Amino acid sequence: MLHHLPGVTATQGTALPRARPTSRWTLERKLALFIFVLLALVIAIFGTAAFRQMLAASVERATSRLERVAEQLAVTSAATATSRVAQLREVAADPAVIAAAERGTTPADTAALRERLEGDRRAADSTLVAVELWTASGRPVLGDAARNGKDAAALLRVVPQVVATRAPARSPLYGNAGRVHVWTVVPVFAGGRVAGAVAEHRRLASNPRTDQTLRDLVGEAVSLYFASTESDEWATLRGVPVEAPFGLPPGKSATRVRDRAGRMQYVAAAPVANSPWIIVLSEPEQEVLARPREFLGFMVWMGGLLLLVALVSAWLLGRHVTRPLRTVTVAAEALAGGDYSRRVEVTGARELAQLGATFNAMAAGIGRAHAELAERNAALEQANAAKARFLAMMSHELRTPLNAIGGYTELLQLGLRGPVTPEQVEDLARIRRNRDHLLSIITDILSFARADAGHLTLHMHDVPLAAVLADTQAALGHQHEAAEVRVLFDPVPADLLVRADRDKLQQVLLNLVTNAVRFTEPGGEVRVGTEPRADRVVLRVRDTGIGIPPEKLERIFEPFVQVDASLTRKVGGTGLGLAIARELTEAMGAHLSVESTVGEGSTFVVDLQRAGVPAVPDGPKALTA
Ligand code: ADP
Repeated sequence: MLHHLPGVTATQGTALPRARPTSRWTLERKLALFIFVLLALVIAIFGTAAFRQMLAASVERATSRLERVAEQLAVTSAATATSRVAQLREVAADPAVIAAAERGTTPADTAALRERLEGDRRAADSTLVAVELWTASGRPVLGDAARNGKDAAALLRVVPQVVATRAPARSPLYGNAGRVHVWTVVPVFAGGRVAGAVAEHRRLASNPRTDQTLRDLVGEAVSLYFASTESDEWATLRGVPVEAPFGLPPGKSATRVRDRAGRMQYVAAAPVANSPWIIVLSEPEQEVLARPREFLGFMVWMGGLLLLVALVSAWLLGRHVTRPLRTVTVAAEALAGGDYSRRVEVTGARELAQLGATFNAMAAGIGRAHAELAERNAALEQANAAKARFLAMMSHELRTPLNAIGGYTELLQLGLRGPVTPEQVEDLARIRRNRDHLLSIITDILSFARADAGHLTLHMHDVPLAAVLADTQAALGHQHEAAEVRVLFDPVPADLLVRADRDKLQQVLLNLVTNAVRFTEPGGEVRVGTEPRADRVVLRVRDTGIGIPPEKLERIFEPFVQVDASLTRKVGGTGLGLAIARELTEAMGAHLSVESTVGEGSTFVVDLQRAGVPAVPDGPKALTA
């Protein structure tokens, strides 16, 4: 049989289903996101590292500066104090001062003694309040301290210490009338014993120049305090008493402490040698971290800008990279839709140019192959039509003389042309049988040729299956009785409808039943069963005959194929029945198949379209036995 070439003209113009995208994310977006995430990570990692580094460096720089300046100030203070003690020692060694101390009473000429004690220092030294002379027992020889309770109390704590230790000493800092004061006391020796004490009274204050120098050194944010170990009096750089703003750090190195206002401060303290004083420097953490924070802000801003630029560039890059792919996709879709003339113009990177060239070559190849196939298909169709025409004509031409043969044979048989002997009658009967056989072969060939050429005219209706089966049974006549084969039609509900061409369906069924009878030994059985399903009806023609070997199961549906040609000579047949049956069933939207076991029998299955609404069966009806 000449099959139609499938797929060429049929698929032309039919767009292939678009490949379902596996993800919502296009390559272009993925690329942009990837670059963005990568860059964001890099910026975040390096930014954090740089920020941490800067933070550590800022803290380190601030604390070491605080420590260094505190230490320097402590050393300078100690040096100043030492030089003042040396000065006071000189005063204490003055014979007039010694004499006055030994006398223990205020001399008549206080101006002279004051001159001895203070010299001209008071005018030049703004922090100096007075230099006084006191007895070892703590009475003033020359001095006003006694008039002020706080001054006296501070001084009288130091004098006994100086007398006892015979060494100079300094009082702790103490506040008085809004200023911070301090005493430096030096013993006055007379003949090896401590006769009295020279006491220098100072009020802490810095002059504007020193102030500025310090500010230049440590910056505006740093606060500078004096504290003392023996009292909790604190003073600012300008000598104003203040409440301790925070606790003193335990060691020499700067530490982070919380001040009374709750703010964090970096604090460094340095004790002044040979005194109870401590120089304390503090800087708010906010100030220390100001620059790193500024840097962080700048970095976030810059990083954001950089990421934005990166995102846009990544997106543009993605578009640029995927553009050739899009071009090829569009062209491939056009190709799938049957436009074989479509070509792409892909330039740029070598791989992409290669892709374009390969696509174009493929499109050209497919186009050529398609044209060739279409051409061949047309030729084949022409040939097929010619063959069908030839067969139809031949069948017609052959049938005419055969009918004549039949007619004349009958005339002879009836003795209308003269008497015939019994032998001649038998010969004439043989001629008749052979003519009939030849006629059936020609009829088969004709109907197959029609079906194969697609010249089938179907009249599809909702056909009651029971009626078709009854007609089939009637058409079968008594063939099976001669073959001694029982044929059983299972009962079918009268309202079971199938969608079919009634005559063609009957032709198919008759062919199957006839085959079953022909290929079943005497005493065997043929059964026609029906199985209604939701939207199909399955018909089974089952026999207990010789069966079909597995390798022939499909081939028997091809024209002129017979399992056993020698057997055919006995049972007759052209090898066209099943080929016609299959063409007819397929044309009706049904399906014909076979299952078989050699020696046990065969079952031919017709899978039909069911028609109408399934109704309640009105009881089985026996058709035949
Ligand atoms: P034919 O006219 O030769 O019977 P068919 O097309 O009807 O042509 O059948 C093709 C071949 O299939 C038969 O020659 C036979 O060998 C095999 N065949 C068909 N039906 C049966 C059956 N029921 N049992 C066994 N063999 C069968």
